Amino acid sequence: MNPIIIVHGGAGDVPDSRVKGKLDGSKKAVIAGHEILVRGGSALDAVEAAVVSMEKDEYFNAGYGSVLNLRGEVEMEASIMCGKNLDVGAVTLIKDFLHPISIAHKVLTDSPHSLLGGEGAKIFALDKGFHTVDPKSLISPHAKKALEDFLKHGEFGRTEIGMDEAGVGTVGAVAVDSNGHVAVATSTGGMSGKAIGRIGDTPQIGSGTYADDLVGGVSTTGHGESILKYCLAHSIIKLMEDGLDANTSTKKAVNGMTSRLNNTAGAITLSKNGDIGIHFSSKRMSWAYIKDKKIFYGINQGEVFEEQYEQQ
Ligand code: ASP
Repeated sequence: MNPIIIVHGGAGDVPDSRVKGKLDGSKKAVIAGHEILVRGGSALDAVEAAVVSMEKDEYFNAGYGSVLNLRGEVEMEASIMCGKNLDVGAVTLIKDFLHPISIAHKVLTDSPHSLLGGEGAKIFALDKGFHTVDPKSLISPHAKKALEDFLKHGEFGRTEIGMDEAGVGTVGAVAVDSNGHVAVATSTGGMSGKAIGRIGDTPQIGSGTYADDLVGGVSTTGHGESILKYCLAHSIIKLMEDGLDANTSTKKAVNGMTSRLNNTAGAITLSKNGDIGIHFSSKRMSWAYIKDKKIFYGINQGEVFEEQYEQQ
């Protein structure tokens, strides 16, 4: 089959000043993943590459530019799943590595466990040759400003996600490779002003991430406590398994979560055949995919831009 990859750059109330940066970063990320797929690479490597690209980019709430907890620190989490055999790898409470998604991928391939957190994740990463960075080097000026604003007026979980300058931008990617294997990766800094040690939906399989070659793959973003109560990623998979198409399933589950729990979210979905689902109940969510030599992308409700894409 023709391989395909789709990415998102976080659901929320993205301020106008951040729109262009998110669209550019989403396009760059989808190209990074697509180039791996067209050279015959695996869906797993493609989703990792797309997420790595956004973890480096301060326009996203993942890696450098992650939002801050109440103590002003970055605490990141990520997960990755392989649809071929349902293998998973996830990490949480990561403070001093730039690319949590790459450590999660290593957990998938090299650990008997599924989810490692905090000190244990650090020990594992060091053992696998990952290099630490100074935790302060992960803090962007926008993330600092977002925490200051949150401390002035925020109430966790009651404000719209991303109301503040940098308070939005969890990243994710879903791919199907030329062998028909599905993979999904999701990475985040969580939510501005979160408690120390708070773990959201992103590292939890079935909430932030799900992949199954027999059905498809989903990456989610939005209000973590709601997404994990609703097992949003797996809810979408279940609807597809029951016969709904990718877009209808995505819309139905995201809207179902929002009406039941009164918080917003977004998701990107691919069916095993490469059919696309994109939906968000938040004001904005950046997304991008490449199909038939064109990049399609958008951030506002109902908006689709397209550009010619010639592979390098
Ligand atoms: N879902 C993420 C979390 O709650 C935040 C986001 O997607 O913006 O940790």
